Amino acid sequence: MKLITHGCRGSIPNPSKEMLRYGGNTTCFELNMDDFQVFFDAGSGFQNAVLDKNKEVIIFFSHFHHDHVQGLAFNRYLLEPETKTLICSAMVNSEKLSEIIRSYFSGVFFPLDLFDNLDNVTFSGFNEAQRMVSGGFKIEAIKLNHPGGSFGYSVTQNNKKCVFLCDNEFTTSQADELKIFAEKADVVIWDGMFTKEELRLKTGWGHSSIQQGIDFFSNLNCGEIIISHHAPYRTDAELDIIEQSLPNGIHLAKDGQVLKL
Ligand SMILES: [Zn+2]
Ligand SMILES: [Zn+2]
Repeated sequence: MKLITHGCRGSIPNPSKEMLRYGGNTTCFELNMDDFQVFFDAGSGFQNAVLDKNKEVIIFFSHFHHDHVQGLAFNRYLLEPETKTLICSAMVNSEKLSEIIRSYFSGVFFPLDLFDNLDNVTFSGFNEAQRMVSGGFKIEAIKLNHPGGSFGYSVTQNNKKCVFLCDNEFTTSQADELKIFAEKADVVIWDGMFTKEELRLKTGWGHSSIQQGIDFFSNLNCGEIIISHHAPYRTDAELDIIEQSLPNGIHLAKDGQVLKL
């Protein structure tokens, strides 16, 4: 299983030259397995993912804020009839999911009713999707703390486990449940949008700090933590300074990074 980072910027894409090394695309991570391509969110980074028509492509949405959905319509492979794609979210049932995605890519926000004409795309409830993929891998979901709601996911295959926890505003009340969910993961993707100082001013915005990721990792039996959802204003130079200060086992996400699990 390979973890590919297609987008690690939070809230809005920022393709400024000061941001290009870590990347300006919004949230999209791919787990590439022998028979499956699993995506966590389809932010602007999703446009660069190469969908393999010989694999089952499944997109799990954490939630539907713009930065997690906006890339969906811009992946050229998704528009090819041979690319069978399942879209799913633990947030809502299949009818509601279809309604949200169809309305996002239609009318006021998009030039045409895109998903009315994509027969290769299917919407599914989370429990059905969980059953459908059970022969290939195990997927679990956890409710996160975010305005409007959000769900994290865990994928396990051949004793390798990857946990995705974006978007989430960490609270001590969720600590035990999160710890159990992420325990023994090979990699955990953590929402570290803010610094400790910024978080004081941004309580209620739905994101955690880098320091909270470090503290969480120190109590967890896991391989490594990747800090993602970088603030859109954070430059490469600033991220370099943060990266150098991180303890062993914690890294900042970078667009294009491939991690073999
Ligand atoms: Zn976000
Ligand atoms: Zn969000």
